[in-house]
Amino acid sequence: MSDLGKEYHIAGATVRKVQEQYLHHVPPSFLYPTAKSEEIKALEPALALVDMDEDRDTLVVSIHTWLVRTPDHVILIDTGSGNDKERPSNPIFHHQAIPFLDRLRDAGIEPEEVDFVVNTHLHVDHSGWNTVLRDGKWLPTFQNARYIFPRAEQKYYSSVASHNDANMHSLGVYEDSVRPVIEAGLADFIDCTGGPFLDRFTFLPTPGHSVGHMSVLLELDNEAAIFGGDVMNHPVQVGRPDLNTVFCEFPDQAVQSRRRVLEFAVNNRATYFSTHFPGSSAGYVTREGEKFRWTYA
Ligand SMILES: [Zn+2]
Repeated sequence: MSDLGKEYHIAGATVRKVQEQYLHHVPPSFLYPTAKSEEIKALEPALALVDMDEDRDTLVVSIHTWLVRTPDHVILIDTGSGNDKERPSNPIFHHQAIPFLDRLRDAGIEPEEVDFVVNTHLHVDHSGWNTVLRDGKWLPTFQNARYIFPRAEQKYYSSVASHNDANMHSLGVYEDSVRPVIEAGLADFIDCTGGPFLDRFTFLPTPGHSVGHMSVLLELDNEAAIFGGDVMNHPVQVGRPDLNTVFCEFPDQAVQSRRRVLEFAVNNRATYFSTHFPGSSAGYVTREGEKFRWTYA
């Protein structure tokens, strides 16, 4: 039995994390190449114990899926990096064998019970479990689901324009984790303006980390939550929203989207569900003067 983590009840839905993996010993100088080491050191007192390894020099990063259950639907938001994928240029994700689907079952959901799969964007660690390898073929993992992709992401990653240095880590993802879903007729697309989805969700355009990155707002009866994808990759960026990661493809837009989401989270007292923060991966943003502050929930 895996550790299921906490169940959150928000806006008439339940939200639970299904863990894929933790990455340890991530050097801040790798994740935030534009930050000087003393700038990261200055942030350390505001970081929680779980945010860093015991050495307090390197960062912990989580990769997981959010399982959201409303009275009518089962929804997965982001699908980790997946098993058996060919990622020779990205050894962490190359030929993985992780019991992720067992953990989903431990959380009470069989793959065929999933109604919707949302990818905030189409990077390597957000769309992996879209597909599984069966008899040498990539097939949709969630055969009864509609998969929701941002249209701009589908366009960009299916073209050679995406074959650049910033996107090197996600080469091959479109071919093994997105195209098979589209070919199976299971894909729907969200335009770059975002908008309402089902009975209590809204897609919020948050481009920058990637070309058509979408956040997902869950809202009902004055309760709100945001699934922010890679608007932020670590609590470091709550304290320093101006810092982009090495994976942010469009830096200026990424900073604007990050500030907008932080403001929104504060103003709406929204629970923020991150795709990479460690620990519970969920929490609240508050404002202290000009600064934002992160508290795990
Ligand atoms: Zn990511």
